[in-house]
Amino acid sequence: MTMTLNRQTVIPITELEQSAFCRSDGNLRTQTLEEEFKAGVRWQKIPTRYMKLSPEEIDAGIAEAKKALGNQVILLGHHYQRSDVIKYADIRGDSYLLSKQAAEIKDARAIVFCGVHFMAETADILSSDDQSVILPNMAAGCSMADMANLEEVEDCWDDLQSVLEGQGTVVPITYMNSTADIKALCGKNGGLVCTSSNADRAFNWAYERGDKVLFLPDQHLGRNTALKMGIPETEMVVWDPFKQMGGLSPEQIRRAKVILWKGHCSVHTRFTTKQIEEAREQHPGINVIVHPECTKEAVAAADYVGSTEYIQNMINAAPTGSVWGVGTEINMVSRLAKENPDKTVFCLDPVVCPCATMYRIHPAYVLWVLDGLVAGLVINRIEVPPATKANARIALDRMLEISK
Ligand code: SF4
Repeated sequence: MTMTLNRQTVIPITELEQSAFCRSDGNLRTQTLEEEFKAGVRWQKIPTRYMKLSPEEIDAGIAEAKKALGNQVILLGHHYQRSDVIKYADIRGDSYLLSKQAAEIKDARAIVFCGVHFMAETADILSSDDQSVILPNMAAGCSMADMANLEEVEDCWDDLQSVLEGQGTVVPITYMNSTADIKALCGKNGGLVCTSSNADRAFNWAYERGDKVLFLPDQHLGRNTALKMGIPETEMVVWDPFKQMGGLSPEQIRRAKVILWKGHCSVHTRFTTKQIEEAREQHPGINVIVHPECTKEAVAAADYVGSTEYIQNMINAAPTGSVWGVGTEINMVSRLAKENPDKTVFCLDPVVCPCATMYRIHPAYVLWVLDGLVAGLVINRIEVPPATKANARIALDRMLEISK
């Protein structure tokens, strides 16, 4: 028996929600679901008995459910999940690693994805048809992915074709952090998916097939990748979906080598050059490492730039006594600090802000969906429609191919 809730509308981060979990004392303690709900977090409705469960009750419940389900279920956990959720994950990783894992999991009938909506969609596209992918809280979206919806991107694509007719070929590249619809549009139109670790390879792949790249939805990753490849900013334009023809003239479009969709990550754009300067003043000899979803200014001021896995590997392999100022999501930074007690690891942003949508996965939701599986009920199954799945798979397979 399956209980599916299709997420048709964007569930934005509320100001109350953002302020409830951005703290300067760095204390991100998980409260009961009821307490967090009162603090302003947007939750999917859940049976009331889960609202008041203590951490100990949830721990015991999850252990019992996992024991009953054995290898029928596997839990995937993204690095940005809070510690009180990631501890239940059988496999941890960034969105690329977890999507590869989802493609390789054969035994488990159910994949519980502790991450956000686009990640669960990707897992559904890559896993086999008889496996169910479950997102514990359907409100866990990604504000960046939601910045590019299908209708807007289709309009952009049509406008580009009509402006460029016979005067250039555009190859669409979408970052993994996009909806299945957008991945499918790229697959259908000769493009591919990329992650922050293979974006440069995706650009190379695209330029072997066309002379322009439409990069969706994160302008910063697109810009940082193009700059790293030696493409000057004068050859890049930003497509604003809220303006006629993206706010660009036909001439600007024809001259551009890269067309960047106007999207961003609300977590990574918080990092500034001022924070980096202050960290360098306070910790001479510090290593500054940031994610490529940060602005080009923050990227230029950093010593190292790379994906979540790259950041983790660099810090884990760093010498004892080294100091690291990190520009990425706080739950991951806190975990790295804890796991590397011989080094100093801290977040560059003094006001601690988690990814608010990732934070919507509360341990009580994990217990709820596992209890459902024990009772023979698949709660919150993510199912990408077959036609979308087929085209998105093409774009994802191209990415997996260039990453070999
Ligand atoms: S950190 Fe940014 S890009 Fe990643 S899931 Fe959160 S909002 Fe989306």
